[in-house]
Amino acid sequence: MIYSRRKTSQIQVGKVGIGSNFPISVQSMTTTKTRDVEGTLAQIYEIASNGADIVRVTCNEVEAAEGLVEITQRSPVPIIADIHFQYKLALAAIEAGVDGLRLNPGNIRKESQIKEVAKAALSANIPIRIGVNGGSLDKDLLEKYGDATPEALVESAMTELKYLEDVDFFNIKISVKHSNVPLMIQSYRLLAEKVEYPLHLGVTEAGPLPGGLIKSTAGISTLLNEGIGDTIRYSLTADPIEEAKSGRQLLEYLGLRERNSLDLIACPSCGRAEVDVIKVAEEAQEALNKEDIPLQVAVMGCVVNGPGEARSADLGIAAGKNKGHLFIRGEVVRVVNEKDMVTSLLDEARLIVEEGIESRLAAADDNAAELAQKDVEDLLNSQGDINSFTDRKKSVVEITSKQDND
Ligand code: SF4
Repeated sequence: MIYSRRKTSQIQVGKVGIGSNFPISVQSMTTTKTRDVEGTLAQIYEIASNGADIVRVTCNEVEAAEGLVEITQRSPVPIIADIHFQYKLALAAIEAGVDGLRLNPGNIRKESQIKEVAKAALSANIPIRIGVNGGSLDKDLLEKYGDATPEALVESAMTELKYLEDVDFFNIKISVKHSNVPLMIQSYRLLAEKVEYPLHLGVTEAGPLPGGLIKSTAGISTLLNEGIGDTIRYSLTADPIEEAKSGRQLLEYLGLRERNSLDLIACPSCGRAEVDVIKVAEEAQEALNKEDIPLQVAVMGCVVNGPGEARSADLGIAAGKNKGHLFIRGEVVRVVNEKDMVTSLLDEARLIVEEGIESRLAAADDNAAELAQKDVEDLLNSQGDINSFTDRKKSVVEITSKQDND
């Protein structure tokens, strides 16, 4: 980790630990009717296999609570019940065996009811998330602050917190989500100064892709970078699989979780490109994703700069003149025909997963380096050497500045 994480208390959502001693976890939420047990479980399995550590489901009716009895038994990951308005459904969800609850202080407002739920959660030894949301804030707080300001969101959380602590309930995490990214960031910063409980981060109602993805990433990663945040959710208007993937990938890209999925890097392409980089990158991504290959793989548009610029990638392909240079950690191991670029990449990726990088480097074609060098020279002869251009440009700048001084 490159920064220090804010110190928090620890909680357990089933088998998943949350708090500063544990890796940051990823959450998502089902979109099925919870009473549809088979449909909900199918979606939970898909969400979990795409990177979610915990899944939340709505518990909005008696049939949903009944469905939770079987869902919690058969789910591969811990299940949290999302409760709005009806505190009795929280009690029913606890009885059904959920691993945690999310309560919205904006719509379950009676102190006695909140305390009753906390006492039941205490007996069942499950945590509660105080899930404040800028869009459903308590009316009194909206009147007091004039809007869903960071102060209003934090006051809502603190009031609910007092109710829980009054009955000796401390098994808590908190979220103060807002759909406006700067306000979301300020709300969490303010809350982090006041409590030691773990925080669940998210930009609420972030919307469809790509805007929703950008908003969520901006808000969540700004806070993670400050050491704030213990579990995250991307609230996208998209298939929840996208939420799980996005959350997981963000943590991997920030170096906060070990990579267990593909990281495809590709050059943005330019006039030097010898292939349609976008097409090749998309084809490679699809093929590698299908097989769940957990490597960093590069697709580069030319052999002049490609292998060097992507030398940190486990594996890559760069386009030469009607050829592809397959490289491992920057070293060309094979030169293939352009039409075989993606299949060769996929075959080599499989072999790296089976045999390891060192063994595949040792299995490089004897003449690969020589063929690659010749190809680079041919390209430079036809396109020109980028470095000599740079030198020439320097000379041009020197001449111009001399004239200015004269
Ligand atoms: S790798 Fe080659 S094609 Fe891609 S951006 Fe760099 S110079 Fe251009």
